[in-house]
Amino acid sequence: MRLGVIGTGYVGLVAGAGFADFGNDVTCLDIDAARIGALKRGEVPIHEPGLPELIADNVRARRLRFTTDYDEAVADADVVLLCVGTPPAADGSADLSQVLAAAAAVGRSLRSDFTVVVNKSTVPVGSAERVRDVIAAASDRPFAVMSNPEFLKEGSAVEDFLRPMRVVVGVGPGSGPARGALGTAAAVDERARVVARRLYAAVVRTSDRMLVVDARSAELIKYASNAYLAMRVSFINDIARLCDRIGADVELVRRGMGMDTRIGPSFLFPGVGYGGSCFPKDTRALLSIARSIGLDLPLVEATERINAQQKQLLFGKLCAHFGVRPEPEREASQAQPLAGKTIAVWGLAFKPETDDVREAPALVLIEQLLDAGAKVQASDPVANQRAAEAIQAARPGLHQRVSFFDDAYEAAAGADALCLCTEWRAFRQPDMRRVAKLLRGGAVFDGRNIWDGDQLRELGLKYECVGRPQREVP
Ligand code: NAD
Repeated sequence: MRLGVIGTGYVGLVAGAGFADFGNDVTCLDIDAARIGALKRGEVPIHEPGLPELIADNVRARRLRFTTDYDEAVADADVVLLCVGTPPAADGSADLSQVLAAAAAVGRSLRSDFTVVVNKSTVPVGSAERVRDVIAAASDRPFAVMSNPEFLKEGSAVEDFLRPMRVVVGVGPGSGPARGALGTAAAVDERARVVARRLYAAVVRTSDRMLVVDARSAELIKYASNAYLAMRVSFINDIARLCDRIGADVELVRRGMGMDTRIGPSFLFPGVGYGGSCFPKDTRALLSIARSIGLDLPLVEATERINAQQKQLLFGKLCAHFGVRPEPEREASQAQPLAGKTIAVWGLAFKPETDDVREAPALVLIEQLLDAGAKVQASDPVANQRAAEAIQAARPGLHQRVSFFDDAYEAAAGADALCLCTEWRAFRQPDMRRVAKLLRGGAVFDGRNIWDGDQLRELGLKYECVGRPQREVP
């Protein structure tokens, strides 16, 4: 099949390279000319394991190319995938401007006898109809719009795309004015269904993991799934807070819970809150959808509230350690209570194996530290550059107080405390003897519960984590 992929971010690049790998002829488009220029030179603008190899193989096989020209990507395509961003608007709703602009541009370039426009971006319920109307206003060619939410996870996106747990396809209601040329709306939808089956034939071959539903249900499946997973994270974080107060160990509690097959072990890891480009924005967008029709979703609201609170956890622990009050309890005379302190932060990406720092807990911590007057020595295996850009944008006057290190031990040198925000593999078993010698102050705050508290205490370090009792070394 001939495919046009609109947007070359985490979803578009992986989908484009993945579909090319199945033998399709794929043209990826972006309005970011610098990004397309880099891709044409063989540079991959995001960190995603396995992606550079997948792209290189398929470019070499001439099944994958890059362009900024909509005609080139869309005119002859059987299928066009919309993979542009849907960032949060100021009120929490999903900002659909990229999707609608891309849809209009696609409409202007349609030339085929029949094109299926597949929306992979995460969009509010009813968006397929809006996309259909925008395309119909720009084109008189036959087309259908399909909702096909993407469930890949950054860090394992290639694997998730090539071997998905499920493929959800939302079809209908028909296409725009071209419907007449193809018969009834039902006939258009049936033709779109056939295209969807062909598109995903390679991934549903061994077991049929494709669920075909109506477009509105497909759109909601994506939001409901992310909100549910986010809710599990917030739930265990709530239990961790309780454990902290009553002397139970949340690591044992989560293991005991996860042994129940009705509960399962996934997404029950306590920490410093969830971040990234999906959970935070999708829970807020779901709340906004409900609000727009006057409905409350108290579980989702609590999920979001608990997460915001959890992102303050390490800063609160640091303030307690240094004997200062966290905001808003702080008095004006204490405006910069951590002035003179240097804090090392390990892990800046919102999770391991990605360079994505959108809504990363580490950035919330660093911004709080800067506001409180501290200096920060930060280190991430791949996200230093993106974090530096994000912090500069968020705290333009203060960002000079953050230094970035490729070597995590250099970041720890001379610091008054070390905070771990992302559980990268390289941080799982660091040389803690070396860390103990490098730190000026002997305090370690483990925001992901990956270190051995007893070992650190034996080295003379103060150790705190999330929801585990603090035992003294006899
Ligand atoms: P991204 O921000 O990484 O990439 C979006 C790309 O679209 C950018 O390169 C941008 O330049 C391009 N773009 C914007 N407007 C355009 C236009 N009019 N024409 C062509 N290109 C345009 O986004 P992402 O993380 O890949 O996410 C894309 C969508 O998929 C979002 O709706 C997101 O919620 C959803 N999603 C993301 C993930 C994830 O893990 N990142 C997973 C599942 C679903």
